[in-house]
Amino acid sequence: MKIKKGDTVLVISGKDKGKTGKVLKAFPREFRVIVENVNLRKKHMRRRGPQHQGGIIEFPAPVHVSNLKLICPKCKNPTRVGYAFEGEVKFRRCKRCNAKFK
Ligand SMILES: [Zn+2]
Repeated sequence: MKIKKGDTVLVISGKDKGKTGKVLKAFPREFRVIVENVNLRKKHMRRRGPQHQGGIIEFPAPVHVSNLKLICPKCKNPTRVGYAFEGEVKFRRCKRCNAKFK
């Protein structure tokens, strides 16, 4: 999967289209990631003791990677990602500025 935890991504479809955020968690097997402040869902929680306040909790739900574009850490543009090899080491490569990154 071309998007990893810690990446900054742009949302290109859905109700959060145009938003950017950091990837908080990745689920490579499902091709989904959780992006901060994107695809927020509300959950109604019952109060469970003094530590668990209850009420309505907002949390980001996983988004399919096809709805996202990586923002290149170097040129700061939304880009497609390619791969590059340096010997045995595989890097991701920005298709706009050719920057290589892990
Ligand atoms: Zn770039």
